[in-house]
Amino acid sequence: MKVIPYGHQSINKSDILEVIKVLKSDWITQGPYVETFEKSLAQYCEAKYAVVVSSGTAALHLACLAARLKEGDEAITTPITFIATANAIVYTGAKPVFADINSSTINIDPQEIEKKITRRTKAILPVHFGGLPCDMTRIHYIARQNKLTVIEDASHALGAEYQSKGQWIKVGSCQHSDMTVFSFHPVKHITTGEGGAITTNNKKLYKYLTSLRNHGIYRDEKTKRRGPWVYEMHHLGYNYRLTDFQCVLGLSQLTRLYHFVSKRQTIAQRYNLVFSQSPYLITPHQGTLQRSSWHLYVLRLRLDNMNKTRDDVFRQLQARKIGVQVHYIPVHLQPYYRKKMGYKSGDFPKAESYYKGAISIPLFPAMTNDNRRYVIKNILKIVN
Ligand SMILES: *Cc1c(COP(=O)(O)O)cnc(C)c1O
Repeated sequence: MKVIPYGHQSINKSDILEVIKVLKSDWITQGPYVETFEKSLAQYCEAKYAVVVSSGTAALHLACLAARLKEGDEAITTPITFIATANAIVYTGAKPVFADINSSTINIDPQEIEKKITRRTKAILPVHFGGLPCDMTRIHYIARQNKLTVIEDASHALGAEYQSKGQWIKVGSCQHSDMTVFSFHPVKHITTGEGGAITTNNKKLYKYLTSLRNHGIYRDEKTKRRGPWVYEMHHLGYNYRLTDFQCVLGLSQLTRLYHFVSKRQTIAQRYNLVFSQSPYLITPHQGTLQRSSWHLYVLRLRLDNMNKTRDDVFRQLQARKIGVQVHYIPVHLQPYYRKKMGYKSGDFPKAESYYKGAISIPLFPAMTNDNRRYVIKNILKIVN
């Protein structure tokens, strides 16, 4: 038997045919599919603009630059995220300041954000952990009061929605933020191999991001009048371009996003039904104000009720070929953040206590009913 991974891409025949079509065309990097993918993504998210880039990390980096983060500034984020969120802040010279999580949603706690605001704070980077949207209404309010830029790290949350003032709002629509970042890594909702995007409703940010993706180059009617070859570099940009064959793959995947998310929801609901009956397990938060896109299914062990450790459970699941993971080791406990920024264990007690009992179990659209039943049966056997 093969290992059932915790996450896996779904590539079908039509994805492959689309990529082949582009590979046989004249443009394999910046071609027509870049814009087509951007337009479709913006439309899906109900945002004005989308800029696609070479990875989610590149998207975070450019968003932090567009927020004008620089040395001496601070940006607030959660310790329960992939290291890339905090690293992107460090790339700009600014300091990541962590704010502890809400123990039930595992998302950044708005009250903790407020406690961390200083006169150096320039931005907030909430992360929709596992696909469950953060309290964006509240975070947006705090940001406006303190004149801060909000960058949503929605790497887990393409396809998620939340309610605000009686309306359902799509993550990525930037109704409560300046920019939203996505990742198209294979374990995420749709994939381009590597890839990422930023959505925004702000035309200036859109133009700046587009230019930073391509070395900081500008080319428009004004430069063209001076000569068809003329371009100007105004800012120090990067090569963070996404290729045309990746964009066509993303576009093809996007047509199935709705199906991907509903498959994830169905599997998660089955898990919830069974695991919520166990005295040893805590199932993920489900609110009436959010529709999670279920990037992850994180089970939490009630360790004080059990005579096993998380380590034991993790290894026993692995031995039964169930691909488990831990999302995440709190970022502030990484050696780099301890050494360079003086963070230490005990700094964020809720994040640390969550981490001790967390295990992500398999959840991806192509999971079969047999896969699911096998996972459930073995988890119950091991924890009981
Ligand atoms: C995947 C992920 C990223 C980084 O995305 P890459 O495309 O792998 O660079 C950033 N933040 C979070 C929360 C992620 O899960």
